[in-house]
This record gives sequence, C-alpha cells and structure tokens, in this order.
Amino acid sequence: MNCFECKGDLEEKTVNYMVDLDKTIIIIKGVLAKVCTQCGEQYFDDTTSENIEKIVEQLKQLSTEVTIVNYKEEVA
Ligand SMILES: [Zn+2]
Repeated sequence: MNCFECKGDLEEKTVNYMVDLDKTIIIIKGVLAKVCTQCGEQYFDDTTSENIEKIVEQLKQLSTEVTIVNYKEEVA
C-alpha cells in the first residue's frame, strides 16, 4: 500500500490524533497509523478508525477546552 496523495512509501508509526470540535479539542495519543514518509498523510485501519470514532463520541460531551487521552488506555 502506498500513499493515495503522492504515492510515497508508508511506514507504521504511533501518532497523536487530534480533532477540533466546537467546544473542545480532543487529542488521542499513541494511535498506530501508517504515515507517508513523503507528505506525512496519516492512514488508520478500520478497527483503529472505529475506536477513534467511539472515543471522540464519548469525549465530545465534555466541556473542557482540551481533552487528552491515551489510545491504549481508552481501548483496553
Ligand atoms: Zn504522501
């Protein structure tokens, strides 16, 4: 599998996933992703994407400005 954007090579890495919502910014640390070595585009597999969605769904109710969680702790 290569990058859809630039056809560069992908390497497996743990990244910090950030989503900017109206009320809060959620940062999920330590998410396993495939990252393009050329343009930095990040790809998540289906399971990871689902987990991220669930975590965001749970956390977006919070009214704190920034919420930082650890992916492994949330999924375990
Ligand atoms: Zn790329």
